[in-house]
Amino acid sequence: QAKAQGRNTLCFFDPAMQAAASARSALEGDMRQGILRNEFLLHYQPVVDEAGKVLGAEALVRWNHPQRGMVPPGDFIPLAEQTGLILALGRQVLTMACRQLALWATAPHTADWTVAVNVSAQEFRQPGFADEVLSVLRDCGADPAHLKLELTESLLLHDVEDSILKMQALRTLGVGFSLDDFGTGYSSLSYLKRLPLDQLKIDQSFVRDVLTDPNDATIACTIITLAHSLGLDVVAEGVETEGQRAFLLRNGCQQFQGYLFGRPGPAELL
Ligand code: C2E
Ligand code: MG
Ligand code: MG
Ligand code: MG
Repeated sequence: QAKAQGRNTLCFFDPAMQAAASARSALEGDMRQGILRNEFLLHYQPVVDEAGKVLGAEALVRWNHPQRGMVPPGDFIPLAEQTGLILALGRQVLTMACRQLALWATAPHTADWTVAVNVSAQEFRQPGFADEVLSVLRDCGADPAHLKLELTESLLLHDVEDSILKMQALRTLGVGFSLDDFGTGYSSLSYLKRLPLDQLKIDQSFVRDVLTDPNDATIACTIITLAHSLGLDVVAEGVETEGQRAFLLRNGCQQFQGYLFGRPGPAELL
C-alpha cells in the first residue's frame, strides 16, 4: 500500500529525523545517568604570563562515557542546555573545580593558582546563582579570590541589570569575571564599560590567523587596547605557535592559553 502511494508522498515520520530524535533522547538518558554516576570530570589547561609562568588553569568538562570513551563538551553541552541538565552538571563542575582549588592551596608552588570555570546562560540566570557559588566555595574550603567565572557577551547582555547585581554580589567576596570568546558576540561597548569584569579573553578564531590575516591582527590588537583602556586583563586563547605568542606579546597581551603551553589534561599533569 505504501509503495502504491509512490515515492513523492510526504512522509510525516521521516526515518532519518526519527533516528536523530531517538539518538538525542538516548543521549539525554545517558547524561542523566552519567551525572548520577559521576562520569563527568574536569581537564585543566594552563594560563601563563609573559614569562611562561603558570597563573592558573581553565577547567574544561569531559564526559567519560562507559561506551563512547572521553566525550568533548561540544558533543553534550548543547543538549545539556536544551534539557536543563546543565544546572546539575554545572553544579558538579563548580564543585570539582573548587575542590581542586582547595587542593592547590595546600602546596606552595600552586598556592596562588586560579581556576576558571565556564558558566552557561541558564546557570547564571538562576535567581540563586550567586548564593550557590558562595555555598560551593564554602563547602569546599576554596578561596573565592582564586575563582574566575567565564561568561559570554550574550549571557551578560540578556539582562544587564541582573548581570551586574549578580556579579557585584560575588565580586565583594573576591570572585573574578572573565568575558569568554570576546569579539564573537554582540560586542556592545556601552554595556561593556558598565559590567564589573576583570578580564577579556580574545577568541581563538582571531588568534589562529593573527600572523597571516591583517583583519584578525587588527581585531586582536584592538581587543588588547580596549581591555587595557578599560583597566582589564587580557588573555589570548588558542595560542599554538611561538610566532602567535610573540606577536600578541609585542602588542601588549599579558596572558596566554593554548596548545603551545599545554593541552587540557588531568590536574596531576599540569
Ligand atoms: P572555551 O571556554 O572557549 O574553551 C576553550 C576551548 O579551546 C577548549 O575546548 C580548549 O580545549 C580549546 N583549546 C585550547 N587551546 C587550544 C589551541 O591552542 N588550539 C585549539 N584549536 N583549541 C584550543 P573544549 O574543551 O572542547 O571546550 C569547548 C567549549 O565548551 C568551551 O569553550 C566552553 O564554551 C564549553 N565548555 C567546556 N567546559 C565547560 C563547562 O564546564 N561548562 C560549560 N557551560 N561549558 C563548558
Ligand atoms: Mg572558557
Ligand atoms: Mg573561549
Ligand atoms: Mg569557545
